[in-house]
Amino acid sequence: MGQEIRDLYELDGVDVDSFCIEEKRLVARGRLKNERFTCHKCGSNDVIFNGNCNREFRLPSTGSKNAVLIILVHRNRCKNCDSAWWPQMPFADGKQRMSKSFVNYVLDLLEFATIKDVANYLEITWDTVKNLHKNDLKKKYKNIDLKDVTYITIDEISISKGHKYMTVIADLKTGRILHSVEGRKKKDIRSFLKILKKKP
Ligand SMILES: [Zn+2]
Repeated sequence: MGQEIRDLYELDGVDVDSFCIEEKRLVARGRLKNERFTCHKCGSNDVIFNGNCNREFRLPSTGSKNAVLIILVHRNRCKNCDSAWWPQMPFADGKQRMSKSFVNYVLDLLEFATIKDVANYLEITWDTVKNLHKNDLKKKYKNIDLKDVTYITIDEISISKGHKYMTVIADLKTGRILHSVEGRKKKDIRSFLKILKKKP
């Protein structure tokens, strides 16, 4: 069953030992595969386990149930140079306590549901959903090719019944939005204008 669950959730580098329902949540428990690493400081392979803890990560919901992975993580310590570290989670997005698949799940839900609805449904905070959305937008805009952009248009759009403003910068020729940011002051778009200035 472990293999199936791992395939289901695409948990890179994880051995799932068990899967059950606990307090209305689906709980997978597992360990990292190949947990012992080379020391990142001195390159020694003389690395031992030195302490451990259980960490909980959100997974996409299944059958209207919240799902989590509880993973036993070992702290590594290099016997040669004495540095210690916790391993990276290959299935997680940075230091967030959620799997990459959970992040994708949230972002896809936002295609048709509001931040508030998604937060309520998944029982996470509004801020968490908002931050995931914001980071995703940042990533998207970072990869936009500005090479063929000749003329841009800068507009301010009022949202939330005029309580908030977004500044939107678009390529005039294609209509593609190149950048959007909350606020309508010069400082809000300064960083993007700097990137634009550097374009070939
Ligand atoms: Zn070392």
